[in-house]
Amino acid sequence: MDIQLNQKGQPHVERTLVILKADAVQRGIIGEILTRFEKTGLKVVGMKMIVASPDLANKHYPASRREFIEGMGNRTIDSYAEHSMDIEAEYGHKDPYKIGLQVQKWLVEFLTSGPVVALVLEGPHAIELTRKLVGGTLPLKAQPGTIRGDYSFDSSALANSSKRPVRNLIHASGNREEADFEVGLWFGPEELFDYDTVHQHHMTA
Ligand code: ADP
Ligand code: MG
Repeated sequence: MDIQLNQKGQPHVERTLVILKADAVQRGIIGEILTRFEKTGLKVVGMKMIVASPDLANKHYPASRREFIEGMGNRTIDSYAEHSMDIEAEYGHKDPYKIGLQVQKWLVEFLTSGPVVALVLEGPHAIELTRKLVGGTLPLKAQPGTIRGDYSFDSSALANSSKRPVRNLIHASGNREEADFEVGLWFGPEELFDYDTVHQHHMTA
């Protein structure tokens, strides 16, 4: 990922959106997950519990982003192949876009199904650092030590055969463009706070 530098040649402070999805909330591991972010020095600058409206959920997981939709479809196709499951028997086709659209519907249903905790984390490299702690999309494949790798074993094959999205506990913005859009989508300026942490002193002094 390209890191922009400020005038002192230090990485720009970034903000990223994290959502502790309904599975994390219902499993009672909000605190454990939050601790992992806090321990690295990421600063929580916004936090709220919210039930997303269908409008918010559809904007967050846009059906119009073809690359995103196809990416999900391809993940399903790969996962079925890897587990020797017949995707055409299930869907009647193996079109990644159409399969991705089905997953998007499940995602919207899941995101609106109950309370989630939305967070904005701030710091140098915040986007990359958060993704590293969260781990890969599919918990079965995510590295041990990451949140998804440590707390879940879900896979596309398991999820899709139960007609639901992969339960991987967390959403985290994937890049700067996504982060800027998603922070503005979920939080108003008055919900974001400014204060100093000790990490700031140690890392930037
Ligand atoms: P990430 O959350 O790692 O950025 P994506 O943005 O590609 O991953 O996908 C959004 C969410 O959709 C994932 O977090 C996961 O919950 C779900 N998902 C992704 N691919 C699949 C799939 N093939 N089957 C079911 N759910 C999926
Ligand atoms: Mg994503």
